[in-house]
Parts: sequence; structure tokens; C-alpha cells
Amino acid sequence: MTAARFHEDIHAGYGQFFDIRAVVHRERTAHQDLSILDTEHFGRVLVLDGIVQTTERDNRFYHEMLTHVPLFAHGRARRMAIVGGGDGGCLREALRHERLSVVLVEIDEAVIRASRRFLPELSDGAFDHPRAEIVIADGAAWMRRGSERFDVIVVDSTDPVGPGEALFSRGFYAACRERLAPGGVLATQSGVPFVQPEVLRACSERLSALFADAAFYTVSVPSYSGGAMTLGWASDDPGLRRVSRETLAARFAGAGFDTRCYTPDTHTASFALPPWIEALITPRRPSAPPRPQRHR
Ligand code: SAM
Repeated sequence: MTAARFHEDIHAGYGQFFDIRAVVHRERTAHQDLSILDTEHFGRVLVLDGIVQTTERDNRFYHEMLTHVPLFAHGRARRMAIVGGGDGGCLREALRHERLSVVLVEIDEAVIRASRRFLPELSDGAFDHPRAEIVIADGAAWMRRGSERFDVIVVDSTDPVGPGEALFSRGFYAACRERLAPGGVLATQSGVPFVQPEVLRACSERLSALFADAAFYTVSVPSYSGGAMTLGWASDDPGLRRVSRETLAARFAGAGFDTRCYTPDTHTASFALPPWIEALITPRRPSAPPRPQRHR
């Protein structure tokens, strides 16, 4: 008997499938269709509106690179914001940095509830950690209306459709820039360029128009089918992206935790992009517009 199959239609004429052992959970939340599937090769898989979000088997590749690259580059981060990330993987990785406190802003409480219950190893207790604060809100509105500054902001959102669309807008990136402390850095999900080149192009245009240093780095995540995923990097401190390997190695050794994907070498190498990806990226503007003064 062939196993049931979940087909992810990623793009017109292209997709992937997962042989599934069971549908562990399924619900229509206030924001999206949510299911958790028990699959043959990736363990449990979180799917939102038919799009694979994260899997038990390969989530650490993505969560480590999205989180540790900005944190080890910064080196002195004390406050971090994660927008999206309702599965808890980014939060789990961020809290391994012992002097960091993190606020996670997730629009859909049902994702957190389902992740806690059906994917407990993924968040690994992060939602209840004393250095974690969980906010249920639209990340775009939250970013605009608040005033606290953060050393690192990570956007771990769904793709730019539905509730996630606002988290790829120029207005949202401008609000993130406003909320970064001096020397801060924004890192953001920016799609799989081989199958979503338009996402990378748009992210690049918007980030390079706003920040002194906008760049991209890559991570390969097998369940994000179509090749390497690009992660956006944006800071008004160009030096942050040029931290030496020796410094990264010292910081990584000092942190004292093991990883499956992040090392100082993969950190450095991840910014080396092949020409076909570079061609999708807007050249950096000579200088970003001055940061608008807050009249408060
Ligand atoms: N790693 C995945 C990826 O790269 O596609 C993302 C996983 S995480 C589950 C994505 C989360 O973003 C979801 O829980 C979703 O509810 C949340 N999200 C989408 N739009 C949002 C918004 N406007 N504000 C806050 N969270 C949002």
C-alpha cells in the first residue's frame, strides 16, 4: 500500500512531495490553514497554507544560520526581536546566547500552541524561558508603534503572501531600521532565489535603499526545495559583516554550544554568493538616507 502523500506546489509546474505516515494535527486558524504531518524522511513537518515551514529533521540548518550569523557578528547583543518564528526554532537558538533576552512577535497564537504540543523538541522549552517574552501581534504594526531598540532583529516569516506579505515591505524594513540600536543588524528570510527570484530582487531593492550595508547570505535547507535559501542582512554598520574569522571563532568558542550548521567558517562562507544570485541583487546605494529623527 503506498503511503499517503503531501504535495507542496511551490511554483507553477514545480513542487515536492512527502510520504506521510499520519496527519498529526490540522486546523483552520484565524490567519491560515495549519497542519502538522508525520513524514517518512523529515519527521514531523509544519505546513501553513500548504507551504512547508519547518521540519524536525532539517530545521536547525535554517534556525542556526538565521540566528547565529547576526548574533556572533554583533558580539555584544543584549536585546533581540524575532518577528514570526511561531514554531520556536529561532527562539530556541537565540536563547543559547546567555546574555540575550528575546521578544518574539507572532501573529498567530495557534502556531505557537500547535508547535508546543506537536513539535515540542523544536522549541525545546523556549516559549517558557525566563529570557523570552512572547507577544501575539502583527509584526508590522508592532514594529511601527513601539520605540524600544534592539541589537538584532530577525524576521522568520512565512513567504510574502497572506499575513507574511507585510513583513517584506519597504515600510516594515524602514520600521525595523528605526528600531535597531546603533550597530544593530536585521536578518530576514528572503526566499529560495532559484524558484522565487522576485522575492530576492524585491528584498534587495528595499534593503539597499534603506541601509548603509545590505547583503545576503545563503543556507541550504533540504525541505525548502529549489536550492539554497537567501537570508537578508541589513545594517548601518558595514563593519559588522566584515568581522574577522578569528573574532567569530573566539566568540563561538566562548559561547560553548554545539551546532549542526553554524561555524565561523560557514558564517564567513555563507556570504560568498554565486554570480547568478549576485545578478539578482541591487548594487548597494553609495549612501543610505539619514535615519529620520524621532520627534518624541
Ligand atoms: N522558517 C519558515 C520560512 O522560512 O518560511 C517560517 C516559519 S514560522 C512558522 C513563520 C511564522 O510567521 C508563522 O508562524 C506565521 O504565523 C508568522 N507570521 C506571518 N505573518 C506575520 C506577521 N505579519 N506578523 C507576525 N508573524 C507573522
